[in-house]
Parts: sequence; structure tokens; C-alpha cells
Amino acid sequence: MTWVDWCRRQGFDAALGEEAEAALRATEPIRAGYRERGHAGALRVLDAMRRQALSEADLAPSHGYGYHDAGRAKLEAIYAEVMGVEAAIVRPQIVSGTHALAIALRAAARPGGEILLATGEPYDTLHPLLGLTPDAPGSLAEIGVRVRRPEGDGADPRAVADAVGPRTCAVFIQRSRGYSGRASTPVAAIERLIAAVRGRRPEVACVVDNCYGEFVEPLEPGAVGADLVAGSLIKNPGGGLASTGGYVAGRGEWVERAAAFLTAPGLGTDVGPLTGGFKRECLQGLLLAPGIVGQALEGAVFAAEFFRRFGLRTDPEPAARRTDLIQVVECGSRDALVRFCQGVQAAAPVDAHVRPEPWAMPGYDHEVIMAAGTFVQGASIELSADGPLRPPYRAYLQGGLALPLVIAACVSAVAALRRDGLI
Ligand SMILES: *Cc1c(COP(=O)(O)O)cnc(C)c1O
Repeated sequence: MTWVDWCRRQGFDAALGEEAEAALRATEPIRAGYRERGHAGALRVLDAMRRQALSEADLAPSHGYGYHDAGRAKLEAIYAEVMGVEAAIVRPQIVSGTHALAIALRAAARPGGEILLATGEPYDTLHPLLGLTPDAPGSLAEIGVRVRRPEGDGADPRAVADAVGPRTCAVFIQRSRGYSGRASTPVAAIERLIAAVRGRRPEVACVVDNCYGEFVEPLEPGAVGADLVAGSLIKNPGGGLASTGGYVAGRGEWVERAAAFLTAPGLGTDVGPLTGGFKRECLQGLLLAPGIVGQALEGAVFAAEFFRRFGLRTDPEPAARRTDLIQVVECGSRDALVRFCQGVQAAAPVDAHVRPEPWAMPGYDHEVIMAAGTFVQGASIELSADGPLRPPYRAYLQGGLALPLVIAACVSAVAALRRDGLI
């Protein structure tokens, strides 16, 4: 089947299918590179599983307190190895990426201390914790923690080093661009930031928001010195199979401290049952994750090329070096952004018949529209498109369990925009 045939079956202009095929041909060499990286990542996970002697019995659930859960210990050792660190906590009790980051940042914070934001404005949902939303109950501001941005545009090692002071307890680094216009932060740049901090005060905790970054590059931030790294299992590392959960990984002593904030001081990582099918979905998902991330990157490269052919600005450009999953498509108007997301939703495997509308989502300052026809609610490793309704009306497209799903969504989005004369 060709994309021209698919377009005819949908009642779309066959020319959209021709453009899709041309965009696929034009991007093949770039996409091949991400496919290969996915293969290398899968072998890294496979080797970790073999080294830990993962067995079928390890996949059985635990209950109650979850004491002496050998399968959980292996799962967390496998994660630690894959993330290039000493220890990891991988739990369904961590409900999201924001929760995982809150645990890591609370562990790193000291009363009256200061957290430096090394990569600029942090992701929206972290604002209440960091005291950037006034009077949020439970924020770090309540224990006198202040956040501060070093001089300049962010991710500048010299500016970060100069900003480290006697009260600095942590430096926060965001790998992905999030809902922003800036570029994502490559692992090599994270390494330089960490080295700069170490050069001033080695005891300051370097905390990395790894959301959307896992398996995009050959090395993870923990392997270049991050003390704590946190992320969501319904993004990259869950491989589309994990149905919930988050992880915190890093240096042993820091992870131990983070565990006290996940459960309670004195309990740490020794409790926490992994009920139901969590271990199997989490481990099988981890094994598939590098390949899925590779496909999602192929989809992002395709999208960057395809939408440009219709006059829309895309960022990153098709051939740019990618260090996260996010592909921005600038829609230019509120109507176009809404229509774009509705077009993506119309090509989803789940809820294709539903029309997403803008809403005031908890944790975000602006109205947001979100297309997510996913098997797991909100799973952005599955294809999703969303964006805050503010100029320049950027759609953030990310994920995709298989390349054809991304192509179908892109074609459907252009068809929706064209139907309303918006491009
Ligand atoms: C998604 C995301 C988060 C928050 O994760 P949730 O699972 O949505 O809570 C934090 N930072 C970045 C960069 C993200 O992309």
C-alpha cells in the first residue's frame, strides 16, 4: 500500500499522499541513523537484563508492604545500569514525571537554600513546587528555598558556575525543551554544566529532568555525572507498555535520600509493592523503549519535512541533531492550532471519533489543547500533539509507537487545515 492509496481511502487529496512519500524518501538517510541508535539502545537494555539474570519468577507481583521483593530489586538494578548510575527507584507509586521530579528536588533541597535553574524556565507543572506559583501549598518556598536563574540565556557553564554561591544546594537542568521556544539540552552540554558546578562546589546536587530525553542519545545524564535524574514511565522509558509510574536514578546516597521522600524516612526503598502486571510491562517496555524512541524520532523527522512542504515552520529542522522527542510545528493562529490537533486525533487508534477542545488543564497557566488517542491515558510516548493557546500557537508533536501512525496523523492534520482553508 502506498500513502496515495491511503489518502484516497480517507477521501483526502491524493497529492497529500504523494508529498508524504516524497518526505519519506527525502528523510531516509536521517531516519536510518535513529533506527540504528534504537538498535544499539535495545542491546544495552538486553545486556543489563542478562547481567542481572532476570528470570520469569522475577515478574511475579508483590503485595502489602512489598518487603523482600527480589524482582523489584532486579528491575531497579537494570534501570540503574541502563541509566549509567549506581541506583534507581522505579515505582508505580510515582504517579508522573512531575512527581518523580518533586521527589528528586525535595531530596536535593535544603531549608533556606537556593536552587539554580541552569536551563531557564522549568516545565510548567514544576512551578508550584519551585515557588514560582504564589502560595502553592507544599512548595519548597515554604521551607525557605529560593530559585534563581543565572545570567544569560541558559545552559551556559560559566554563568552557572558564577551563580553558585554558599546557599546553593542544587542545580536544576532540563533536558527537553518542554513548552518553550528554546532548543533541547544535549547530554554533552549537561556534562559541561555539571563539570562547571563541580569545579565550584562539588557537594551541590545536579538534578536532571530527563523527560522525553531517554534513549534519544547514546549516553544518559547519569553517565556524565548527574546526581539525580528523574522521568516518567508513560514517556520514553516505558516503551508504550508501562501503564503508570516514574523513576528516580542517580548516585547511591542521593537516591537513598530521594526514597525517604517517596515513602518515609526510615522506610526508603525497602517498601513499595509492585502489584499486578507492573514488573512485566515495565521491563518489557524498557526493552522495547529504545526502538520505539527511534521510531518516534523517525516520525519527528518526517513531520519536520512534511509540514514544511505545506509552508508551516518546523523546529527542529529535519536534519537537525535531536536530543529529545519534541517536534514543533508553528500553526500561527488559535484556529489552526486547534484544527491541527483535531486532525491528529482523527487519525489515532483510540478515540479517533473524538474532537479535542482547549481546556484549563491543572498545572498549566494557559488553556491547552491536547490530541491523545492513546491506549494509556496521557501517554506521550504514544503519539500526542498539544500546545498552549498562546502566540505563536506552536503545536508540540511527540511520540509514536510506530512510524505509520505518525505519518497518518501528519497527513490527517494537513487535510484538516486545508479543509478549513487554514493553509
Ligand atoms: C512531561 C514533562 C514533565 C512532567 O511530566 P508529567 O508526567 O507530565 O508530570 C516535566 N518535564 C518535562 C520536560 C516534560 O516533558
